[in-house]
Amino acid sequence: MSAAGAGPRHAPGRQSLLDRARAAAAAVVDPELPVLTLLDLGVLRDVEVADDGAVVVAITPTYSGCPAMGAMRDDLLRELRAAGLPDARVRVALEPAWTTDWITPAGRAALAEAGISPPGAAPRRSGPVPLRLGPPRRAVRCPRCGSGDTEVTSEFGSTACKALYRCRACREPFDHVKEI
Ligand SMILES: [Zn+2]
Repeated sequence: MSAAGAGPRHAPGRQSLLDRARAAAAAVVDPELPVLTLLDLGVLRDVEVADDGAVVVAITPTYSGCPAMGAMRDDLLRELRAAGLPDARVRVALEPAWTTDWITPAGRAALAEAGISPPGAAPRRSGPVPLRLGPPRRAVRCPRCGSGDTEVTSEFGSTACKALYRCRACREPFDHVKEI
C-alpha cells in the first residue's frame, strides 16, 4: 500500500491523523473568552504525533492565575476523542510566555464582533519594568460605536483577564482584553 521507499516517518496514516488532530484542537474555544478558539488566542502552539502514535497538543497558558488551564486540557482531550483520537496528551509549554500579541487578526475581529475591545500592543518585556501607580493608561476604542472617548470603570471586568470600560459617546459598558 505504501509507496516504495517511504519510511515509517512518512506512513500514509500519519498526515491524515495529524490533520484530524489539528482540526479538532483548533475548534476548541477558550473557557474565558468563548468567542475565541485556542488557535485564535494563540494558546494552541503545536500539534504533533509522538513516536508512540499519540497525539500531543502543546498549549501555552494565558494570564497567570487564570484557572482556565484545566478546562482547556479537558476540552482538548474531549474534542480529540470525539474526532476519533482517544490516544492524546496535552503538553504545557511555558516558554516563551504567552502575550496578547499572539491573538490572531481573526481573533481580534471576533472579539470586536462580540462587543469586546481587543488588546493593544503588549508592553515590552525586556529592560526595567517601570513602577506604575494606578491603572495603566490605554487608548481604548468603543467596540460598538468606535469612539475613542472611553473611560475605565474597573481594572477587573467579568474575569481578571478583562478590564471594564464605559463609552462616553454611546454610554455602553464593554470589556477590554488586557494587554500582557
Ligand atoms: Zn460607544
